[in-house]
Amino acid sequence: MSNPRPDPFTAPLEYAPRSAWNRECTACGACCSAPDITALEKPLGVPCVHLDAGCLCQIYLQRPQVCRNYDPDWVCGEVAPLPTLEGRIGKFLEIYGLLEELRH
Ligand code: SF4
Ligand code: SF4
Repeated sequence: MSNPRPDPFTAPLEYAPRSAWNRECTACGACCSAPDITALEKPLGVPCVHLDAGCLCQIYLQRPQVCRNYDPDWVCGEVAPLPTLEGRIGKFLEIYGLLEELRH
């Protein structure tokens, strides 16, 4: 019998401490800001041009497939509680090992 799909809210063993915070998207804006998104020609580490000041998507119904495919997971529990978008972007990039790439 194959293993059940891992709970996407369970952090990797090597990543601690874990914030047992929230299992749902709270529109913190981190995943719309930190990663580069080719479909939107969005570079690493800057908010998407479609993200409004309240961290909501202004083109939500027309957002590209890559955005539709993105599901909340354990990373949300680490980034979303941080008080500023800048801090959330930094943490997201740190978790994915992309801080160095941003500096180049
Ligand atoms: S990082 Fe997670 S909580 Fe924040 S906007 Fe993206 S899916 Fe939602
Ligand atoms: S298009 Fe909308 S959902 Fe996609 S990254 Fe931009 S703000 Fe986020």
